[in-house]
Amino acid sequence: MKKVAFYTLGCKLNYSETSTISRMFEAKGYEKVDFQENPDIFIINTCSVTENADKKCKKIVKEAKKISPNSYVTIIGCYAQLKPKEISEIEGVDAVLGAAEKFRLIELLDGFAKAQETKVLASEIQEATIFNNAYSIHDRTRTFLKVQDGCNYGCAFCTIPLARGKSRSDSIENILAAAEKIACTGVKEVVLTGVNIGDFGIQEGKRQERFADLVMALDAMLGIERFRISSIEPNLLANEIIEFVSRSERFVPHFHIPLQSGSNSILRSMGRRYLRELYEDRISKIKTLMPHCCIGVDVIVGFPGETDELFLETYNFLNELDISYLHVFTYSERANTRATEMDGVVPIKKRNERSKMLRILSEKKRRKFYEENLGRTYTVLFEEDIEDGQMHGFTENYIRVAAKYDPLLINELKQVTLSEINDKGNVDILEPEMILEKH
Ligand code: SF4
Repeated sequence: MKKVAFYTLGCKLNYSETSTISRMFEAKGYEKVDFQENPDIFIINTCSVTENADKKCKKIVKEAKKISPNSYVTIIGCYAQLKPKEISEIEGVDAVLGAAEKFRLIELLDGFAKAQETKVLASEIQEATIFNNAYSIHDRTRTFLKVQDGCNYGCAFCTIPLARGKSRSDSIENILAAAEKIACTGVKEVVLTGVNIGDFGIQEGKRQERFADLVMALDAMLGIERFRISSIEPNLLANEIIEFVSRSERFVPHFHIPLQSGSNSILRSMGRRYLRELYEDRISKIKTLMPHCCIGVDVIVGFPGETDELFLETYNFLNELDISYLHVFTYSERANTRATEMDGVVPIKKRNERSKMLRILSEKKRRKFYEENLGRTYTVLFEEDIEDGQMHGFTENYIRVAAKYDPLLINELKQVTLSEINDKGNVDILEPEMILEKH
């Protein structure tokens, strides 16, 4: 029995896809092992957004060859689609597969027999038109369920449409069937994942269904206790969705909404499809209906043309906004994107300073959000991690809670009262009170 190991870089979508590909291997009789366990085959799923994707990829290949010198090393993922030739030149790589090929790798690399030449099977991205469904099963607590792939937007800084192709989705019917299978494995929380999930519903190039209908259909199914929506574009976060989530027992009060910049002129040059006024309106709609809703924000600093003044516009906008945390990205040039041609390049030092300022702001926001929730009672889903005798879990509204380690709590939903913020920035609780048996 051949042994195969996986390494994933990047986003939730990549994790869901690696997990599905690993189940394909297992179904064909391969044994899935850890990276260190001398595998015969390595599958490295790469990301194009990661800083220094090339260096990271090289490092992992080197590590793989050290562990298992005669192994067969295959590279898939966004970076493989964008730079197949470059990757094929990395010493130790046996095969590189693009977006249209990665789900067929077992059949395409028949037997994983080593050859003199590196195999490069990466069609043009226009060929990636099929939706391949995927979901991750890491531990029993939380699953990333892929419902949509690709993107038809063309933000000036982004390589994802080049790496993943046009927007396409699974059908609601298939997603419900997948969610039922997931429920049978004992998973309690499903995170809906995609590149641009608000654009859900395009099949074979035509809009067939809507994201709001998917949300409602999942809400009506039994078996999964909680659904979380991952990142959704502000212009696609319709009132209908916000209102439905505010009434739902299963969709949790947590949104992650990319802003990218608080300056309208930068938003325009990024090619984003909204202005700051719309963003503000979305936040105020959410907070009016769900005052304790958690809101995460993506923001990019150092985009070309971002003067000190325009950065301050972003800083002040975020400072005033009732949001809970930020994911800060420092802009870096990506080949074949419009932003690389733009004037007003921001020096790296300045980009890093701005990033630091926003990271500090994020910590302040998170702490304030946690403080506002102290004394309130929530349901926590405990995870399988131990750190200094403590375990962790998240509330519906994404507050990270710490409790004394108890193996019986793993994958259990417990009602808890938040008592105080501890030194590590997590929230301590009063004793868990009861196991919920809601459904
Ligand atoms: S919406 Fe913009 S940033 Fe997001 S994947 Fe599409 S092109 Fe990239």
